Amino acid sequence: MKTNHQEVLIIGAGIGGLSFALALHQAGVPFRIYESTTEIKPLGVGLNLLPHAVKALTSLGLLPRLIRKGVETREYCFYTGHGQHVYSEPRGKFAGYDWPQISIHRADLHAVLLEALQERCGTSVVQLGHRCVGVDQDSHGATVSFVDGDGAALPSQRGAIAVACDGVHSVFRRLYHPKEAVPRYEGTTQYRGTTRWKPFLSGASMAYVGTYETGKLIIYPIRDQVDDEGHQLLNWVIEISKPDDQLLRDWNRKSRVEEFISNFEAWRFDWLDVPAVLRAADSIYEYPMVDQDPLPFWTDGRITLLGDAAHPMMPRGSNGAAQAILDGLALAPLLRADQNWPSVLKEYETLRLKATGDVVLANREIAPDAVLRVVHERSGGRPFEKIEDVISQDELIDWQERYRKVAGFSADALKRG
Ligand SMILES: Cc1cc2nc3c(=O)[nH]c(=O)nc-3n(C[C@H](O)[C@H](O)[C@H](O)COP(=O)(O)OP(=O)(O)OC[C@H]3O[C@@H](n4cnc5c(N)ncnc54)[C@H](O)[C@@H]3O)c2cc1C
Repeated sequence: MKTNHQEVLIIGAGIGGLSFALALHQAGVPFRIYESTTEIKPLGVGLNLLPHAVKALTSLGLLPRLIRKGVETREYCFYTGHGQHVYSEPRGKFAGYDWPQISIHRADLHAVLLEALQERCGTSVVQLGHRCVGVDQDSHGATVSFVDGDGAALPSQRGAIAVACDGVHSVFRRLYHPKEAVPRYEGTTQYRGTTRWKPFLSGASMAYVGTYETGKLIIYPIRDQVDDEGHQLLNWVIEISKPDDQLLRDWNRKSRVEEFISNFEAWRFDWLDVPAVLRAADSIYEYPMVDQDPLPFWTDGRITLLGDAAHPMMPRGSNGAAQAILDGLALAPLLRADQNWPSVLKEYETLRLKATGDVVLANREIAPDAVLRVVHERSGGRPFEKIEDVISQDELIDWQERYRKVAGFSADALKRG
């Protein structure tokens, strides 16, 4: 089989695979991209693009489209489950960054990436209905095998290197790390949904309420003006401690409000009637809070991992999509024609493996909203008189800054980068 010495095979056309493809196109590197689904559908609910991800997507010329589709996040606001205000801080451009923070439906982000790629590379750029089932390599190239939607074998494809962007159930990851421990369950289940509702707080606020021991809510708008009455599309996420012996990492697993609503019946705040919002959901999905310990390596010769395939993390802290985007934007410019690509893949791993592993671990302990657990513990879960009696402003500010530093989006890091 003939190898194109400069062609990259991308496996998976999710957020990571598509942004990597756009970055390769910008760098003038040929690629082909294979996706298991037979049809691209608007899937998922909302996610947040932090300023480092927006900076990366801006370099691909996508900022105006993202701003048109999403909502520029103005502030984070933290409350206890009793509705007491703990802390607020401005975000993105409102915090002095050169780039905004954008809350957006995953389907809108996916569509922005796909449309841009199709405009630049043609409508058939993504080969659908190609489920990767294996990979092999020799000193000249990598060969990836595929089956179609019915499980029938398709012709294998060969390129100079193959990059697995195939998400949390990555085939390459399983092949190259067969003895990896089973995914680690935090003991928490996440329920995600969207609801059309009137704007709350500033109309562009992301609110964190409560802790997962008793019930936690994260809520923010992801689409403006969804009808003539000025409603927005609100994205919300519930987290609750719950035993789960199935641990199905299926982003499309449907759920029902009855699974969790009893924990939130009393949450009628002056800024939002939480049970009413949850009951009015368009759709609800559930997902176990699972991650995997950072791997010792991603790259083996001409094969490497990117995005969730490389560093599945708990969907907390708004870094799942961001780190996948950053991976692709780090790798693509390194792949120049005069370079030895297996060494480039190792260089990419050096740049990104520890950085993303640190985020996986930070999401277990110091994600932005974990500060509410500290407040819960110190106040014994009871209402407080003054927040200063529980935690100082300095500690609250420092908590957010620590996470920004680990995740690579402190204002200083972005100015330097
Ligand atoms: C359907 C779906 C809905 C999601 N919804 C949310 C959400 O609501 N909120 C949230 O925070 N995150 C969600 N995620 C996860 C989020 O997109 C990722 O965590 C993040 O964007 C990292 O991107 P990724 O490209 O690494 O993985 P993903 O975006 O998951 O993309 C992986 C891609 O690889 C494809 N694929 C998988 N196996 C194979 C194979 N064997 N061969 C070829 N292709 C393969 C998948 O179909 C998918 O298109 C969702 C993911 C998916 C696939």
